Amino acid sequence: MNAEIIAVGSELLLGQIVNSNAQFISKELATLGVNVFYHTAVGDNSTRLTATIKTAQRRSNVIIFTGGLGPTKDDLTKETIASLLGRPLTYDEDAMEHIEDYFKRSKRQMSENNRKQALVLDGCHVLKNEFGMAPGMALQVEGITYILLPGPPKEMGPMFVNYAIPYLAALQPEAAPITSRVLRFFGIGESLLEATLQDIIDEQQNPTVAPLAGNHEVTLRLSAKFHDQKEALLALDQLEHRITERVGEFLYGYDETTLMKEAAQLFVQKGLTVAAAESLTGGGFGAEMTSLDGSSAYFLGSLVSYSNEMKEALLDIPSSLLKTEGAVSAACAELMAASARTKTGADIGISFTGVAGPQESEGKEVGTVFIGLSTNQKTTVHEVHISGSREAIRARTIKYGLFYLMD
Ligand code: ATP
Ligand code: MG
Repeated sequence: MNAEIIAVGSELLLGQIVNSNAQFISKELATLGVNVFYHTAVGDNSTRLTATIKTAQRRSNVIIFTGGLGPTKDDLTKETIASLLGRPLTYDEDAMEHIEDYFKRSKRQMSENNRKQALVLDGCHVLKNEFGMAPGMALQVEGITYILLPGPPKEMGPMFVNYAIPYLAALQPEAAPITSRVLRFFGIGESLLEATLQDIIDEQQNPTVAPLAGNHEVTLRLSAKFHDQKEALLALDQLEHRITERVGEFLYGYDETTLMKEAAQLFVQKGLTVAAAESLTGGGFGAEMTSLDGSSAYFLGSLVSYSNEMKEALLDIPSSLLKTEGAVSAACAELMAASARTKTGADIGISFTGVAGPQESEGKEVGTVFIGLSTNQKTTVHEVHISGSREAIRARTIKYGLFYLMD
């Protein structure tokens, strides 16, 4: 199957919204093993939409539309397809009932325009809209599959996953299902990860390896296509083993997890408590540490000491040290972490000090960060250099903190 996605809506072309529908659908199709070769955005204009569909018909055998199924005059997707394919639009009884019901429940007046939403392409398979009124459609004409979905993401998403995917999967019953596993890495950049695994990525066939960066992390999606589930899992295990032999120290979890979830699990398992002394992160670490329910089991609190005066007052950092070494220093991070621990009685004290920018500070470059970790055994300091905006530096610092706490 070669699929393409046509997003209909002038808002997309005016830059008012981003085409998140195409992103969502592409991701879902990737897990189904369907190739997506084109994304197109086209305005609410019948002539240009017709031309776009004709181009798609020459190169794809699955064409997926989003948008333009609503009741207003500028919603013309199904009308345009109907006239191009020479298929009439007919009323679908279930869809009409669903719409009437919707109005009855919300006690609003139904207009003739709303009836129009129950019109579907004759002979199509109707896709139920559980979160709105306009039904979706799926049909095959001369070897091409057409899928029509509404524009609002909260209607489109569930309809696509619950009804369109099963429809597409049924078209290729002999295809092997895809079993995927996502490996999540922190502390290594996308380009270094790719370079380290270049030969594995180059020779990939089944399973495949797809790197993706985002949210200050890198992930690798491993996808195996086998009829036998056991065989798929074995192939994924073998590939994962080859990968972790090289970059295992940066792997922190699988699939939908986060650094915070993994760290929380570890704290609970080991019965550890944590307290922080925050300068650079200004309380952001505390916010992250309290984001999950049950966080009081492992997080005692943060001493937010942004200015040098507060570092002296809250954490007893000697002014002489602040003058000689500076606040952004390994020595300061070490004392801050130790103070956080001894003042709260936590098992681990962690500290953050650094230069978020945009200007350098104390003669230290933007992105210079010291993270201190103190236990009753020892105190260690990690120095990292983070590039990017002020926000990126602060966000990544918090993630580094969680990453080091898991060590
Ligand atoms: P409605 O019944 O709400 O009019 P519709 O199927 O006619 O639905 P559109 O009118 O094209 O869809 O779009 C409705 C809204 O859905 C848009 O204002 C926008 O917020 C969102 N939307 C449409 N297309 C996309 C897209 N490709 N990506 C993300 N959001 C979209
Ligand atoms: Mg509309």
